[in-house]
Amino acid sequence: MLSYEYVKCTGLSEAVDILAKEEQAYPYAGGTDLMVGMRGGKFAPKKLVDIKTLPELNVFEENDQGIIIGAAITLNQIACHDSIIKNIPILAEGSHSVGGYTIRNRATLAGNICNASPAADTAAPLYTLDALINIVGPDGNRSLPVEEFFTGPGQTALKNGELVQSIFIPRPFPAGKGVYIKASRTGSVDLATVGVAVQNWGEHVKIAVGAVAATPVRAFSVEKAINEKGEKSSAEAAKLVNNDIAPITDIRGSREYRYHMVEVLVRRGLEQTMGV
Ligand SMILES: Cc1cc2nc3c(=O)[nH]c(=O)nc-3n(C[C@H](O)[C@H](O)[C@H](O)COP(=O)(O)OP(=O)(O)OC[C@H]3O[C@@H](n4cnc5c(N)ncnc54)[C@H](O)[C@@H]3O)c2cc1C
Repeated sequence: MLSYEYVKCTGLSEAVDILAKEEQAYPYAGGTDLMVGMRGGKFAPKKLVDIKTLPELNVFEENDQGIIIGAAITLNQIACHDSIIKNIPILAEGSHSVGGYTIRNRATLAGNICNASPAADTAAPLYTLDALINIVGPDGNRSLPVEEFFTGPGQTALKNGELVQSIFIPRPFPAGKGVYIKASRTGSVDLATVGVAVQNWGEHVKIAVGAVAATPVRAFSVEKAINEKGEKSSAEAAKLVNNDIAPITDIRGSREYRYHMVEVLVRRGLEQTMGV
């Protein structure tokens, strides 16, 4: 039987205060990872700090610089948001790839990256968009590029007492042509066996892949071949992705299958976004 205290805060500073003082206090957003992890013995919080209704985290704002997505904004809100669909379709696709409709009604973008699964569906799209993670904690605010936020499987750069306040996607919008392609064991609800995000910015392409290393990673070898060496063949460029990854075998797929699929999906992503 799980035993913990549930705390509903009225303001962000109260939440930060509790999280900083109590080591076994966890931020509770949608709970779709947290509850599963608690039942499976992965997390044993003494306190759950409900951050879902905090006004400071319920921000969804577009300005001259970009779009700010508060940590309480759900994946369905993002996947159905007119401006995201029109201007940042790769993020709408990544958000829509998570679970089923009811999961996305609770699950947040911030929760997806804070859980830090190497297979997190929103991570690879965020890598190709140069997203910044805005963090608040006992020592104030700081921002990190999303690529520095993921530090290992289930691990992030968050320090004790810190939480993600929002995710910032910088302009220009529309963000070129981008796709997120996911291979999973079933056609419906499952984590990615391989996830590939390809974002064509016009002048250059950015590619990130998930579930093939300890964290989501950029496919720098492929990017270099296209952006710097002018490689025109998607098939030839896609072969290079194997230099950027270190997949493992697990219940979702073997190491060999992942090496194969990531190349296939990078090729398809390049064909769809670059037309080469
Ligand atoms: C049936 C099912 C299917 C799923 N399918 C997928 C899938 O296809 N793809 C995929 O990527 N994921 C999937 N997931 C995992 C999950 O739904 C996502 O990772 C989700 O986005 C997590 O968000 P949440 O708001 O529910 O996070 P929570 O469960 O509330 O939190 C997750 C972790 O992050 C911490 N946290 C939450 N918010 C913050 C914050 N603002 N600052 C600091 N720490 C924070 C929590 O303390 C916890 O450790 C699935 C889960 C289920 C149950």
